[in-house]
Amino acid sequence: MNDPIEPSSPDDLRRRGWRVAVHNDYRQHGQHWTFWLFTRGSTCVKGEGRTDAEALDSVRRQLRSGLDPWFDNPRAVHVLYGGFPLCGFSQEPPVDWPEGMTWVGLSEWEKTTCEGCRAKGPEHLRELPANR
Ligand SMILES: [Zn+2]
Repeated sequence: MNDPIEPSSPDDLRRRGWRVAVHNDYRQHGQHWTFWLFTRGSTCVKGEGRTDAEALDSVRRQLRSGLDPWFDNPRAVHVLYGGFPLCGFSQEPPVDWPEGMTWVGLSEWEKTTCEGCRAKGPEHLRELPANR
């Protein structure tokens, strides 16, 4: 995936499904600061810094350190269950998922590249009436 990151632009975050909820510039102790708040589903993450690049890099670090398991793997293949991803990363249907993300049905569960879906797979498979 051609995925250039421009440090001072939030486009790479938007491509991963993060929406800009708040972006403010302010002055503190006579210095310029900027604040960004992103949301995806019920998760939010904020970053502050002297420049947009500094604030957005703070957001990227937080996402990479666990908030967004797919940050460096936006082509993740999820398992679709009842119209939504099994791992619960999004409350949106696939058409609104981050660009590049795809899905397989429960019958192709072994093809998932998502740790969250993989972890939940067997549990939900057992719950299916067909498997009882
Ligand atoms: Zn998943």
